[in-house]
Amino acid sequence: MAVQTIAGNATTASVDLGPAVALSCRECGERFDLGPLFACASCFGPLEVAYDLPAGDPEALRKRIEAGPDNIWRYAPLLPVPADVADKPNLNPGFTKLVKADNLARELGVTGGLYVKDDSGNPTHSFKDRVVAIAVEAARAFGFTTLSCSSTGNLAGAVGAAAARAGLRSCVFIPHDLEQGKVVMAAVYGGELVGIEGNYDDVNRFCSELIGDPLGEGWGFVNVNLRPYYGEGSKTLAYEICEQLGWRLPDQIVIPIASGSQLTKIDKGFQELIRLGLVEDRPYRIFGAQAEGCSPVSAAFKAGHDVVRPQKPNTIAKSLAIGNPADGPYVLDIARRTGGAVEDVDDEQVVDAIKLLARTEGIFGETAGGVTVGVTKKLIEAGVIDPALTTVVLNTGDGLKTLDAVSSTSQATATIKPSLDAFRAAGLASA
Ligand SMILES: *Cc1c(COP(=O)(O)O)cnc(C)c1O
Ligand SMILES: [Zn+2]
Repeated sequence: MAVQTIAGNATTASVDLGPAVALSCRECGERFDLGPLFACASCFGPLEVAYDLPAGDPEALRKRIEAGPDNIWRYAPLLPVPADVADKPNLNPGFTKLVKADNLARELGVTGGLYVKDDSGNPTHSFKDRVVAIAVEAARAFGFTTLSCSSTGNLAGAVGAAAARAGLRSCVFIPHDLEQGKVVMAAVYGGELVGIEGNYDDVNRFCSELIGDPLGEGWGFVNVNLRPYYGEGSKTLAYEICEQLGWRLPDQIVIPIASGSQLTKIDKGFQELIRLGLVEDRPYRIFGAQAEGCSPVSAAFKAGHDVVRPQKPNTIAKSLAIGNPADGPYVLDIARRTGGAVEDVDDEQVVDAIKLLARTEGIFGETAGGVTVGVTKKLIEAGVIDPALTTVVLNTGDGLKTLDAVSSTSQATATIKPSLDAFRAAGLASA
């Protein structure tokens, strides 16, 4: 095991990220000291966090977790964060509701138990607070003073808020044409917000250039040079879902795909829980969901390809509009290994699914939630998702951020004078 030192960084011996011991290459397995690295120096493969996880007594670990705070820090022993993380100023995301969606289940014909993991309940109303919270700890450990990201919208808001609370400067980059709700959320916390004339893939390329330039010195890009740490935040979705199901794996789970990071890390989280003896080792199937207007992973899955051909995104599901997804090939591996699938739905189906979830369960999801619910419906109808098995669907963001998707079809039923006659004439009296 070759441990290399990283030129230009503070001595990594002083880095305390809890159980994290190294970065390791997903492709060739080479190990590197913990630092703001994201690509293997030997093969350019993506790096991920390697741990020395608490071995031994699963019952004791389960008790320790259950006694922890009602947020992601209850899983601190399994995350790249210092042990005292909960005492620092951060947004404390996570432990969002796992809603037993019986009405939706009835509508979709699911008999084995259908659950919606509703991550719109996070501090900035998307799952991105989870990943940012972990990246903030890495930024602190490596001495970064500016927090940054390339974002499809939700990440920019999560970074702005987390930086404000942590007392860091932030400067975030988004495509210039995002939904108003996401632009305002990204700006309101007082950091710098830069709109880039281009799509997300252009924004991301720009950020990669900035990292290599003196202009970006001292900057921690949560999803670029801090990406290995950032990604680990998504494991907490896997932990929470299992804990909320009574320390049990779901049989099937439907996850939206932008870069594919979240999906791969949920799988990693399930694998860790199995290895630690916290859940019974039984098969689970992972399904990926995309919008048809940006479906590079779904297209590759259906064509039987191992590589993902980039697309130019054109969909209302802007939070998922990454045409060149970094973790696409790993998503394909996981969907195939677990007996899952990757599927897509068109924008009209996304809108219908947003309204279906709202109408049946009182949950107003953003377009990404419409994508997962829409794909779930489609895969049940196609006989791919088994309705007799326990199924979890992720809603990763809040519908208030993507009002445009439904505003034209969600309006007042009637507008009337304030009189009983007018109300009677509107025909809305009790049936
Ligand atoms: C970012 C995001 C995702 C998934 O992102 P990955 O890049 O695949 O990890 C899902 N839903 C919403 C709402 C998001 O903002
Ligand atoms: Zn490598």
